[in-house]
Formats: sequence, structure tokens, C-alpha cells
Amino acid sequence: MSRREALSKLPKVDRVLGAAALAGHPVLRSIQRQKVQEALAELRAQLLAGEKGEAEASIEVPTAEALASTIARRLDALIEPRPRRALNATGVVLHTNLGRAPMSGEVTQAIAAAAGACDLEVDLATGLRGSRYAHLRPLLAAVVGAEDVHVVGNGAAALLLACTALGGPGGVALSRGQMIEIGDGFRVAEMAAAGGAAIWAVGSTNRTHAEDYRRALAGELPGMSGPASAILWAHLSNFRQEGFVAEVELAELAKLAAEHGVPLIADLGSGSLGAGIPGVEPTIAEYLEAGVDVVTCSGDKLFGGPQAGILAGRAALVDRLRRHPMARALRPGKLTVAGLQATAAAHARGDAARSLGLHRLLAATPEMLRGRARSLAQALGWPEEVLRTTVATIGGGSLPGATIEGVALAVPGGAASRRAAILRRLDPPIIGRIVDGELLIDLRSLPPEDDAALLAGLRALA
Ligand SMILES: *Cc1c(COP(=O)(O)O)cnc(C)c1O
Repeated sequence: MSRREALSKLPKVDRVLGAAALAGHPVLRSIQRQKVQEALAELRAQLLAGEKGEAEASIEVPTAEALASTIARRLDALIEPRPRRALNATGVVLHTNLGRAPMSGEVTQAIAAAAGACDLEVDLATGLRGSRYAHLRPLLAAVVGAEDVHVVGNGAAALLLACTALGGPGGVALSRGQMIEIGDGFRVAEMAAAGGAAIWAVGSTNRTHAEDYRRALAGELPGMSGPASAILWAHLSNFRQEGFVAEVELAELAKLAAEHGVPLIADLGSGSLGAGIPGVEPTIAEYLEAGVDVVTCSGDKLFGGPQAGILAGRAALVDRLRRHPMARALRPGKLTVAGLQATAAAHARGDAARSLGLHRLLAATPEMLRGRARSLAQALGWPEEVLRTTVATIGGGSLPGATIEGVALAVPGGAASRRAAILRRLDPPIIGRIVDGELLIDLRSLPPEDDAALLAGLRALA
């Protein structure tokens, strides 16, 4: 059929909307109509563009029924619950793309309990208005070892609030060696400056000295009209420098800041409390002991809780943060408050390895993992030879190079990337990783309660 003829044969919008697949579809008619119009516009454009040399005889036009079925499938996908549960068999325990710290048990229960009406901002003793931070503040402060704490929506917001509230009027001094990018194109210096604080680059990429900070604190850097009002230290997180490098020690920097009467803010990133975390990642308490005035970090990295930003430090400064107008814009929702409260309570009981999803994964011994791997292999009828000892990682932009022993099943039968793609399309999807041409299902990052779903998925593969 000719292109012109094809264009004239395209079904009308109302015919498509009237076809069975859409007539009974639960999505609103107004949205259906919009999708039908889009699909028809797409077909029209394709027909007009036409491939060069395409035989006109091969041009076909979908029927109203066929088009309605296609659109109904698109609408089904549109309203699916997302994000979906997934099985993290990557061996990366804190996987940013899989939702960072996995939460479980009492933490998810606390979040679900807060979903309905809850006593978020009411003092039940008096019936008067209370604060959403009333219970979280003392608990979290005790757990991280700070005079006071404040909570915002994520780590970047914590950094933004600290630099905005404490960086005026003279701006914030930051070493060029710490001007890192944390991922997805976001840079510490740019996030710190987003609230209007000037960020003064200090020292050089590989070497920064106390004298460089002194010049910033004396207002002597080019372009300065007065002394810097704060110093920012950024933990390198996912990045390492080697060779001819130097940074001022944190404790020395704290002394320098105190001498000049300016606060030292430190962006720690990971929020580790130390216990149960392999490798050497500085903790919030270590930073505070070194003399940092305000530490900022994420709630969903090594702290093991929901996405949140934690600011911990001196009471007078935290009070300034809490009262800054931006604090209202960055405040956490009730689900975050509930999840963080339950996470901090587990830390307070010294019970993280039992109660927190992340810490449970890290606490599993290689023997436990091998036992699970053996049972799974047996149930699948796979030989013991599919068991692999792996080098699993912590991930989440923390602890570069820090590894932990994992145990994996190497999916037999080759075609690793094709099999990986099949597993990703299961419900729930299984996300493995390919090492040396083998598709590995690493149990280090997978809680034992996911074993049944894993087994079902791997059976489906066979
Ligand atoms: C992860 C990270 C951030 C950002 O925290 P989010 O919770 O992802 O917003 C900021 N700074 C450092 C050093 C980090 O590692």
C-alpha cells in the first residue's frame, strides 16, 4: 500500500479507545486518550519518514484492536508498583542502584506503622504540638556520640545545610584535593555552594598545607573580600590519591579552625559507627573526637538505615542548622523519621548484626554462606563444583577497595550475559554479576530469607 494510503488507513483515536483491550482497562480515559494520540503520532511520523528504498508493498498499518492491545500493555507497565523488590546477588552489599542499605524486620515494620496516622508531631502527655525530632534527637545523638544532631532528607542535603547555615558571610574553604565527584555528575564543592555560600579552593590537587587554609582564613586568596567563615573537609569516599600527596591532618585542621573561631564541617559520607564494618572507614565519633564541629553523612550507607542526612556535632552549631529556613525545606518525612529511629535503636542495643539488613549481611560468616550455597546447589541438582569463593565489596561509594569474602554459585551452562538478562526479567528480578565469563550469584549481598525466591528463579532458568 502507498504511504498516503497507509496514512489514511491509520485507525481513529476513538476506534482505538473503543477496542476491547482499552475499553475495560483501569487507567483513566484521559490518560488512555493521551497515549493513543502519542502512538498514532509516532506511527504517522514513521510512515512519513519511511525507510529509503522500502517497498511500498511492505507497508502495513495496525488495526485498532492491535494498537489498543499494544497501548494496554504500555499502560499496565505504567501503573506497575515501582521500585520492585529485587534479589541482590551482585556481591555488592551496599548497592546504590539497588537501593543502598537494605532494611528489614523491625525497621520496615516501624516505617509501615508510621504510614498511617501517627504521633509525629504531638506530645501525647500534654496533647500539645510536639517536634518530629523529639524522640530521634536524643537517641541518635547518643548513638553517634555527639552533643546534638539534626536530620534532613539525604547526605547531600546535610552538606548543603551545613555550608549554607555556617558558611556566611565569608564562604567556606575546601582543599582542591577534596573537590571530589560522588557520582552521577554531582560534586561536593558544587553541592556545598548550591545554597549561596562561596566555596574557596585551597591548596593544590595533590598537596594542601596548613598555610593554604591560613591564607583563606585571613581573606588573602584572590577574589576574597574577607576571611572565610568555615572550613569544609570532604572524606574522599570512593576515591584514593597516591604518590606525592599531602593533606592537613583533621586534628590539626580542627585546631586551626578553633584558633580562628570558625567551624570545621566534615562531610564523612558513609556514616559508619565502626562495629561490624570491615576495612578502615572513619567513624562519626572519630571525626568528632578529632575536633570536627559538625559531621555530615548519609543515613543509608554504613549507618544501615533509610535515605536520610545526619548532621552531628556541637549543640550551638546544630541549633543554628535547625533554625535555618533551609532546614524546613530539607526536613525528612515521617517514614524517614520512623526508619531512622528504629535503626538507631538497634545500634543503641548493640544489636545491629541481628536487626539491621546491612549489618546482618556483613555479619554472615563464609561458613554460613557456603552452607546456604551447598543447599541451593543441591536443590537445583547442580554439582558442588559450582561453588565459588568471591571477593565481595561494600560499595555505596564508601570504603574503596575494602572487600569481604563472599560465596557464590556459578550458573552452569555458559552464555553468561544472556542468562544474566533472563534472571533480570524474572519476578522478582535476580541481579548477579559476571566475573571471568561466569555468571555469579553471590550470597554475600543476599539475605537468607531471599533463598526461596532465588531457588525458584534459578529453577525457572533451567
Ligand atoms: C554519598 C556521599 C554524599 C551524598 O550523600 P547522599 O546521601 O547520597 O545524598 C556526600 N558526600 C560524600 C563524601 C558521600 O560519600
